Amino acid sequence: MDAREIEADLNETLVTEAEIHAKLAELARRIEADYEGRDILLVGVLKGAVMVMADLARELRPHVTMDWMAVSSYGAGTQSSGVVRILKDLDSDLTGRHVLIVEDIIDSGLTLSWLLGNLRSRGAASVEICALFRKPDAAKVEVPVRYIGFDIPNKFVVGYGLDYAERYRNLRDVAVLAPHVYS
Ligand code: 5GP
Ligand code: MG
Ligand code: MG
Repeated sequence: MDAREIEADLNETLVTEAEIHAKLAELARRIEADYEGRDILLVGVLKGAVMVMADLARELRPHVTMDWMAVSSYGAGTQSSGVVRILKDLDSDLTGRHVLIVEDIIDSGLTLSWLLGNLRSRGAASVEICALFRKPDAAKVEVPVRYIGFDIPNKFVVGYGLDYAERYRNLRDVAVLAPHVYS
């Protein structure tokens, strides 16, 4: 795909890379204050959270460790089904750890709600969530998110890690995918 083809697949830019970095710096200051003196285990949800993890982790001044999980919500296209399967589990034992889940986006909330329950059952000292985006109008379940970047409209977005059919993840800004791409 060349730049012009990608351009044609995108509608408006919702959030720029600069706005994301500023927001992550703000969230990092809050996280540092809240976790003072405690070691944080950041758990990134592959693959969408790769960019958020990379930037948030480097914003945080205290020592952190990182681990990764890959989960899949059964179902095709742009809808999550809520039936979650672990594709790649954590390498770490969570016993006594302070876990901060790092997510790209909360849509229905079904994936994170399942993940929260799953990680909480492993003996962690605490499990909290940091998500860069949230679509309040798409919520099917309430997820207790401690750190949230941006509330956005109920539209399918790509960029900064977010894909459609594995494409567009490397776009720096987050933009609305033109419906002609998936309909
Ligand atoms: P949920 O279970 O909250 O409905 O959605 C979970 C996953 O669906 C997110 O972690 C993300 O991978 C994907 N998703 C939800 N909304 C969007 C969106 O607008 N754009 C992209 N690219 N992925 C999304
Ligand atoms: Mg995700
Ligand atoms: Mg995806």
